Amino acid sequence: MAATYDAIVVGGGHNGLVAAAYLARAGARTVVLESRHKTGGAATTESPWPDAPEFKVTRLSYVMSLMPPTIINDLKLASHGYKVYPMGPYYQAFPEGGSIKLYADDAKRNYESVARWSKKDAEAMPRWDAWLAGLAEVLGPLLLTVPPNIGSRKPRDLTGLLKLAWRNRGLNVRTIADVTRLMTMSIADLLDDWFDSSQVKGALAVNGVIGTWAGPYAPGTAYVMAHHSIGDVGDGHLGNWGFQEGGMGAVADAIGAAARGFGVEVRLNAPVSRVLIENGRAVGVALANGDELKASTIVSTLHPRTAFLDHVGEQNLPSDFATDIKNWKTRSGVVKINLALSELPNFTADPGSDLQEHHTGSVEMAPSMEFIERAFQDAREGRPAARPFSDGVIPTTFDTTSSPQGTHVMSLFTQWVPADWNLEPHTAELEAYADRMIELYDEVAPNFKASVLHRDVVGPYQMEREYGLIGGNIFHGELSLEQLFHMRPAPGYADYRTPIGGLYYGSSATHAGGGVCGIPGWQAARAALADKRRGNTVSKSRQA
Ligand SMILES: Cc1cc2nc3c(=O)[nH]c(=O)nc-3n(C[C@H](O)[C@H](O)[C@H](O)COP(=O)(O)OP(=O)(O)OC[C@H]3O[C@@H](n4cnc5c(N)ncnc54)[C@H](O)[C@@H]3O)c2cc1C
Repeated sequence: MAATYDAIVVGGGHNGLVAAAYLARAGARTVVLESRHKTGGAATTESPWPDAPEFKVTRLSYVMSLMPPTIINDLKLASHGYKVYPMGPYYQAFPEGGSIKLYADDAKRNYESVARWSKKDAEAMPRWDAWLAGLAEVLGPLLLTVPPNIGSRKPRDLTGLLKLAWRNRGLNVRTIADVTRLMTMSIADLLDDWFDSSQVKGALAVNGVIGTWAGPYAPGTAYVMAHHSIGDVGDGHLGNWGFQEGGMGAVADAIGAAARGFGVEVRLNAPVSRVLIENGRAVGVALANGDELKASTIVSTLHPRTAFLDHVGEQNLPSDFATDIKNWKTRSGVVKINLALSELPNFTADPGSDLQEHHTGSVEMAPSMEFIERAFQDAREGRPAARPFSDGVIPTTFDTTSSPQGTHVMSLFTQWVPADWNLEPHTAELEAYADRMIELYDEVAPNFKASVLHRDVVGPYQMEREYGLIGGNIFHGELSLEQLFHMRPAPGYADYRTPIGGLYYGSSATHAGGGVCGIPGWQAARAALADKRRGNTVSKSRQA
């Protein structure tokens, strides 16, 4: 006899846990099936060094921002250990000498820091911040909006489109133009319109290429910058980039604890191999060990290729949907390097390895747009970057739970290696790449190399094999224009429903993903619960 539930959630990443928590909160008997030995997916805290288990690294994702207060409050995450320390300033020390610091909320200090490089840029900075804040007011609420099915003539879809237009009735020609620019421009062209100095442009370009298989000169990267700069997801509060105490795994643990509190069962080491389909409807799942579980609601939170092509099967999908999923772009060329440090970096530009403000934010290695672009071009040409760029953070400057007193862990989010490095481990080349990355920091902080006690290098192959991040893309799919909003994960299916009745989809490959925000899981649960209430569980066909 197959075990029977009301709802099955496939994947115990943070989105799966959020979906399960909301389903169970609404009374559904819910089980989460996770293939790994632990939940969290890409939001994971681990001890990668067996002989130094006291160091805990936030192995893949590393900073929080876009989790909406609605989810945090509904699931009472603070009572389950959700505790985020706001990050310090953006910091870059330059190989040629000097440094720049940019603060999220201190215009006076930004002026002083930027004026050292360009007075004109220092004067432009408050206007830039205000411009971005204005755009965030438009884009933030969109993250919580279910994308309308643009092009459909179904009354319900047309109503959705009208509602969206009505909600945005306050927009004027200028705002629409700004949003259009943001969506279509490269971050390089956009920054050229605003700033002169290479130092400021380098600092602001990083967010445009995070997790992206594109350099700063590629159209669309301006939007990626905005996605990472929004902070406000539309329910009235400004988010802030910050470090979770205990690393990102503690975010997933808090959501997991909330889910269990609502009665969710979590099964670990339980890889799903198939969604069971009868008469076009999902009725359960089969595990890799052959066990079957039944439920009338299934929510998958896996990469779309796994969720649809492997688990549902092309033969059960409309051919245009299957083609869209096959064509889904899922490259990044990201390498995560986690370090245990005996002491903090002692920067020539800002001396001292005692804890100072510039250690507490992002400690970057992205001195100019050209530097970033060169790293991308290397990877495009089939080589790992000779001089990779890095978005570095040292969370232990706040979080004292993750390393012994006086020591630190540092997370380096680096790019790029070639897009096809998900196919082979490239172990020796990744080690050489990590050596080069460490050398670059050592050029500006000469104690750096000697301070490294342990290192852990996670490349695209490991991300795909161990964590299910196909192609090594950090968001289950690129944040490129053709894969956003009503196109994420495929046109006609951006409402967290799928072509299969009873099967919902809530991974980072849906609108508002990627990132550790929980919105996809929340929306998928809401869609499932709404359909249950309406008694609407038939499969969804795309409407012309
Ligand atoms: C290196 C890196 C850095 C990042 N940095 C940040 C950051 O700083 N801030 C941020 O907000 N976001 C960041 N992200 C992105 C963010 O971590 C992801 O978008 C998000 O965690 C994905 O959550 P998810 O629940 O949708 O999917 P996942 O976390 O991928 O969860 C899917 C789960 O399904 C499991 N699974 C896979 N196959 C099966 C199967 N067959 N059966 C059952 N279970 C299965 C997996 O083990 C996994 O636990 C980063 C990602 C990476 C990789």
